[in-house]
Amino acid sequence: MEDWNEKCAVVGIYSVHNASILSYYSLFSMQHRGQEASGISTSNGKKIFTYKKNGLVSDVFNKNILSKLEGNSSIGHNRYSTAGEDSINDCQPIFAKYALGEIAIVHNGNLTNTKKLRQSLIQEGAIFQSHLDTENLIHLIAKSNKNNLENRIIDGLNQIKGAYAFVFLSRTKMFAVRDKHGLRPLSLGKIINPDGSFGYIVASETCAFDLINAEYIRDIEPGEMIVFEGLNSKQPTLKSIKIFPQNPYPCIFEYVYFARPDSKIFGKNVYQIRKQMGIQLAKEHKINANMVIPVPDSGVAAAIGYSAESGIPFELGIIRNHYVGRTFIEPTQSTRELKVRLKLNPISELIADKDIIIIDDSIVRGTTSKQIIKILRQAGVKKIHLFISSPPTISPCFYGVDTPDKSELICANHSLEEVRDFIGADSLEFLSLEGLKKSIQSDLKEKFCQACFDGKYIDELEG
Ligand code: SF4
Repeated sequence: MEDWNEKCAVVGIYSVHNASILSYYSLFSMQHRGQEASGISTSNGKKIFTYKKNGLVSDVFNKNILSKLEGNSSIGHNRYSTAGEDSINDCQPIFAKYALGEIAIVHNGNLTNTKKLRQSLIQEGAIFQSHLDTENLIHLIAKSNKNNLENRIIDGLNQIKGAYAFVFLSRTKMFAVRDKHGLRPLSLGKIINPDGSFGYIVASETCAFDLINAEYIRDIEPGEMIVFEGLNSKQPTLKSIKIFPQNPYPCIFEYVYFARPDSKIFGKNVYQIRKQMGIQLAKEHKINANMVIPVPDSGVAAAIGYSAESGIPFELGIIRNHYVGRTFIEPTQSTRELKVRLKLNPISELIADKDIIIIDDSIVRGTTSKQIIKILRQAGVKKIHLFISSPPTISPCFYGVDTPDKSELICANHSLEEVRDFIGADSLEFLSLEGLKKSIQSDLKEKFCQACFDGKYIDELEG
């Protein structure tokens, strides 16, 4: 999917041996959520150490750097940055010293009352080093008159609005919190140390747990803060504080595109939901064709589901090159086809003279779909039916996902027929919003943020 980017991944490790290395592997497994920068802070109980840099996790850290990040607790962050905000100051964790000690913080999401709040903090004398909305919270914590960090964090959270999954690290404690709508995911797990003692992990996705043998316990609830205490004891404790009454609206797009299929998001496995979306798509849009082909990788699970429901054979007719790094010189506008071909190449011997159904997860600007269809035509395909396993994206996101303006979203500005004509498919169909929700749950009672599909933002829904 082009131009629709998750902004971040966060992780926190508490009271576990080699916390920096476990954070490193966790960030590595969540690289898909942000590739611009990576950072880790650790604490040895007396001091917080931080290292962060632009680049992929494997480029930012090495054995030597990780060995200097001492201690048994750590937090980490992968960042997706928008243009003009790629300085080291905009990488996370953000570290600060304040009246009660030291603190580091990582954030996935987007705060919505940032501008006004920053202006008033500046007027009060605060000095900012980054463009990050998260830095506001550091100042709110620093200037709070509460007598401990826990209460200062709660004080700060009461003054911010928007979407967040935060993890805070002090010298001896860790704090993990989700906003009252639970827009961004954050799961809790347990790690057993080699000596039999145990510790905890929180992460944006549970694929991070699998890599380091952590056991999934549950999600942090919307509006909940968990305080981790007893660093280096045999049995560190968890304290759950309900900061805000919960009003869940988790991001439905996590299931469509962002999350890895092997993750459990909001308590449900992503692969199974994507496959169900394909099954539902086949129920809603039946057509005769020789084969079903996914746009790899994000269309694979839905294409398997479509094939299973329709009985039309599944084939891997397009092969993806997984080694296209971000360092490659970006082709200019005039060579967009090269950009797509760098990643995707069709198997012409398989698809020439055939009627095919292509399954993709979504359409944003439409330019990538257009190029995919062009290279399929060049490979000799007879008829191309592009079926999308989510509804048309018609509105931008303000809750932590980097999206184009509404004016650039092709489905927001054109009819289905105009979009089909632009991308050059013989037919074009989308999964209905109800069908998407049916794929996730059976009773349709659960609420989701689905604003990018229906334009109804949570603030309006709340009245
Ligand atoms: S607007 Fe879309 S991408 Fe943003 S949080 Fe809501 S569902 Fe997710």
